[in-house]
Formats: sequence, C-alpha cells, structure tokens
Amino acid sequence: MRFDYDDGNIFAKILRGEIPNKTFLETEHTLAFEDIAPQAPVHMLVIPKGAYVSYDHFARDASDAEIIDFNRTVAAVCEKAGVEEGFRAITNARAHGVQEVPHFHVHILGGRPLGRMLERG
Ligand code: AMP
Repeated sequence: MRFDYDDGNIFAKILRGEIPNKTFLETEHTLAFEDIAPQAPVHMLVIPKGAYVSYDHFARDASDAEIIDFNRTVAAVCEKAGVEEGFRAITNARAHGVQEVPHFHVHILGGRPLGRMLERG
C-alpha cells in the first residue's frame, strides 16, 4: 500500500507551530494534546511528530525509536490523565474508519463509563 501524506492537514500545522494546541505531554518523537471537541472528560490525542497518515502506515514505516517513544507516551498520558478506572484508545483510518485528520493519531478517552465499543448495525 502507498501512503501519501498531505502536510496541509491540521495536525501538521500544529506540529509546525502554525496553530495553537493545548499540549499535555511532549517527547522527542511524540506530541499529546487535548482534543478540541472532547467526547469524554478525558480526551487526548497522541500523535507522532513524523509524517504518517494512519496506524498501519506508522506501524509499517516508523523507526523502532519512534514506535517505542509513541507507545511510552500513550502510557504516560494515561498515567498523567488519571484513568485508573479505565480508558479507550481509538485510532480511525481512511474512509471506513471515518478518519477526519490524515495524520496518524490515537484518541485516549476516559473519565466516565464509555459504553459499548460500537453501535450495532
Ligand atoms: P479523527 O476522526 O479520528 O480523524 O479525529 C480527529 C479529531 O481531531 C477530532 O476528535 C477533532 O475534534 C480533533 N481536532 C480537530 N482539530 C483539532 C485541533 N485544532 N486541536 C485539537 N483537536 C482537533
């Protein structure tokens, strides 16, 4: 599969500092910030700083250092956000996944019971 990264997407603009964000954690390869339209009391987005479109792109092409840093940052976000009672990590990809922003990101949602994973149907 070929992944074509569009650097005009909103998260690329955040990474370039062209638009503001509410940063929650930042490391060498990863940025975590608050979702602008939270769907739960905790709603963070974790993104790699590299140009990856989706989870499958990142998992295939990112360096070991980027992948380790990303996953450690997810863990640090969960700890700092205080989601001991549970959370959901979601990553949407392409049309069927209803991905709005074409820069790989993981949503970390928590702070309340989140219901079933998917609507039936
Ligand atoms: P997705 O449908 O998985 O691509 O989700 C994109 C997410 O990005 C949505 O939850 C939006 O609320 C969020 N979002 C869009 N623009 C911004 C922004 N400028 N800062 C923070 N979150 C944003």
